[in-house]
Amino acid sequence: MKKISIVVPCYNEEESLPLFYQEVNKITEKMKKQAVFEFLFINDGSKDKTLEILRELAKKDDRVRYISFSRNFGKEAGMYAGLENATGDYITTMDADLQDPPELLIEMFETLEEGEYDCCATKSTSRNGYSFLRKTFTKWFYKIIGRLSKTEMVAGARDFRLMTRQMVDAIVSMKEYNRYSKGLFSFVGFQTKWIEFENQERVAGTTKWNFWKLFTYAIDGIVAFSTTPLIIAAFLGILFCFIAFIMIIVIIIKTLAFGDPVSGWPSLACIIFFVGGINLFCTGIIGEYLAKTYLETKQRPIYIVKETEKAIKKTRGEKN
Ligand code: UDP
Ligand code: MG
Repeated sequence: MKKISIVVPCYNEEESLPLFYQEVNKITEKMKKQAVFEFLFINDGSKDKTLEILRELAKKDDRVRYISFSRNFGKEAGMYAGLENATGDYITTMDADLQDPPELLIEMFETLEEGEYDCCATKSTSRNGYSFLRKTFTKWFYKIIGRLSKTEMVAGARDFRLMTRQMVDAIVSMKEYNRYSKGLFSFVGFQTKWIEFENQERVAGTTKWNFWKLFTYAIDGIVAFSTTPLIIAAFLGILFCFIAFIMIIVIIIKTLAFGDPVSGWPSLACIIFFVGGINLFCTGIIGEYLAKTYLETKQRPIYIVKETEKAIKKTRGEKN
């Protein structure tokens, strides 16, 4: 019988976790003839009762494991820890807020069992439940990254997907610090089947993303999967040299033909500001890549563990 690991990154999810566990349990119950399950919750430095709830779950259910980080490392680090430590033949990552419908697991499992696909991924057809600003921003982000990167990023793709061990091993083998999973999933290749569903609203609690976090995440994604912005910077440099060259010729000819004295400092001031701006913009782009390189060379761990379910299971073992 195949074993399915369900990896769930959790940050302040005390309200959604019990609901999540209950709902997913219905599905594991339905699938009990086909597969055995392992829950692997990642407590990403939650400040609420998430860890207490995970301890409780691990106590009463043998299939529940958890890894608790020493602080908040972000969802990407949580997913990495989960994929790295999951022991299943098939592995899935799910949000704790039930925005990823657990019933899809049945279809995903059957798809992988047929043997043709290595991964069954989901995308949401709408973005109900998200703010207008976020919807617009996301739409533009996919347009821009689609142009900039050779790695295909599917618009509306969620991190909810069931993957084979082989594919997960490939993802885990990429130990980069600046992780952008949507890109990594696509980068490793393998056959992926996409299934679509209507976006669900969060069951409880609030979203962990604000505009600024999303914006920097988007920049991280672009920097991680494209070097085209560097080419744009170089191209702008060439373009401006060309414009300057034309202007020089025009001014020389004008002076020779009409003996025009040099005039107009406002236009000059504008040009200086403009070129200065472009200059800083391009330096900023280079700086962004340099910063990422700097962080990678430090080879800091992607996450730090403070506690795992072993603590619980050990005390229980002693009691018995
Ligand atoms: N999450 C996490 N660490 C973070 C932020 C979020 O582990 O720093 C988890 C969160 O608990 C949830 C999932 O990532 O299970 C998705 O987060 P959220 O629902 O807030 O994102 P949204 O659905 O708004 O994109
Ligand atoms: Mg969510």
